[in-house]
Amino acid sequence: MDTVIREKIAARLQSVADIPVGVSNRHVHLSQADVEALFGAGYSLTPFKPLRQPGQFAAQECVTVVGPKGSLTQVRVLGPTRPVTQLEISRADCFTLGVQAPVRESGALENAGSALLMGPAGHVELQSQVICAWRHIHMSPQDARRYAVSNGQKVKVSGEGLRRVIFDEVIVRIRDDFALEFHIDTEEANAAGLKNGTLVALQR
Ligand SMILES: [Zn+2]
Repeated sequence: MDTVIREKIAARLQSVADIPVGVSNRHVHLSQADVEALFGAGYSLTPFKPLRQPGQFAAQECVTVVGPKGSLTQVRVLGPTRPVTQLEISRADCFTLGVQAPVRESGALENAGSALLMGPAGHVELQSQVICAWRHIHMSPQDARRYAVSNGQKVKVSGEGLRRVIFDEVIVRIRDDFALEFHIDTEEANAAGLKNGTLVALQR
């Protein structure tokens, strides 16, 4: 397709609210070694509810997170397991725990926060493994062509309603197995009056 035409189509699409919001409550991704440290030798996670991203699920398992100032119980484990354990919390959770967690993309753990995870069979010390997730949009390469955006690009996203907020600095993440979804945490969602499944528009 002609580049000019593609840009025009993309520009028109970018004013249409067609991206579903996915609100992420605090959660933890665990390595298999940490699953076993927390839940017992040979233990594997039990899928509880599929997430919108293909293959991802909320597990039945929950852990307690302990920081220097306080703790959070019933923190959901998401599966499948990953090479490195990563805890994702909100800014308010940071205050509750007394933990300093930077706003980061998933996996960018340099100088991240630290905390303790407690499970029924033991505990795990997280060192530089706690972040507040950087708001992002998951999309397939096909979606990326429609919106004329590239992996890692920062875009704006807008919702509607009385608490309408325009989110700046939203990172686009493109992968073959990604479903179209705008990921924000509970505080960002509440501040903007957004819920799971609300449709938002991509802007540039
Ligand atoms: Zn995400």
